[in-house]
Amino acid sequence: MNKVALITGSSRGIGKQIAIRLAKEGYNIAINYVNKNEEVDKTIEEIKSQGVEVLEAAGDVSNFEESKKIVELVIEKFGQIDVLVNNAGITKDTLIMRMQPEDFTKVINVNLVGTFNITKNVVPYMMKKREGRIINISSVVGISGNAGQCNYAASKAGIIGFTKSLAKELASRNILVNAVAPGFIETNMTDVLKEDVKLNIKKQIPLNRIGTAEDVANVVYFLTSKESSYITGQIIQVDGGMLI
Ligand code: NAP
Repeated sequence: MNKVALITGSSRGIGKQIAIRLAKEGYNIAINYVNKNEEVDKTIEEIKSQGVEVLEAAGDVSNFEESKKIVELVIEKFGQIDVLVNNAGITKDTLIMRMQPEDFTKVINVNLVGTFNITKNVVPYMMKKREGRIINISSVVGISGNAGQCNYAASKAGIIGFTKSLAKELASRNILVNAVAPGFIETNMTDVLKEDVKLNIKKQIPLNRIGTAEDVANVVYFLTSKESSYITGQIIQVDGGMLI
């Protein structure tokens, strides 16, 4: 029977490429998103073309009850979850002088509380199986900080503490928990930045290119593979050397 991966926020961007990468390895895929549109259908077709089954488990990860339903839907359809990738994330960038309380809490609620909500519901199934892989998508700004992103950086730093704690908690059950911290990756999230800002960021990347969603997906795949079975509690940067 095929293994099963649940990837949150996988209708586009990094999550979509992770879904395609794991489908290539033969995983049945549960995708997740909030807004249904044509892009979602295209993503589903691309995953299906790898010859695996796809389940649409739509829902807002920042809501605990919806997160519970997302996980229940996956279990109902596939009976197990071998890999969980907590990837859903948003930004609401602005300086603290202009940041509204809701800009802060919304980002924390989707990125950090969302990671808790889904993980909390998945862990009992992994514990029962006595194996599992959880990969959380953090960010290099969770390590370095970044002006204009105190909400986002706090959420991503929170994910690092969450990852390390959970790795200690679940190691005895053979559940490995790691995080990937991407640098600057070309997706809708970064499309909003002005060209001169992007050029400036590129100058700070020793490998002299902006990252792709595939760059991140390859490392996530590695963290699901047999080859990484002695790695837990780690934060792997995928940033072209941006933060050394
Ligand atoms: P993206 O292109 O904006 O895609 C975000 C995905 O998350 C979409 O599928 C979106 O679905 C989903 N999503 C948003 N809010 C959600 C919610 N409340 N519940 C469920 N799904 C939700 O973003 P991306 O660039 O691929 O980023 C993916 C992850 O990588 C994020 O955690 C981000 O912080 C992290 N990251 C990105 C970069 C970068 O440079 N791009 C760098 C470091 C870290 P809808 O369309 O339905 O909203």
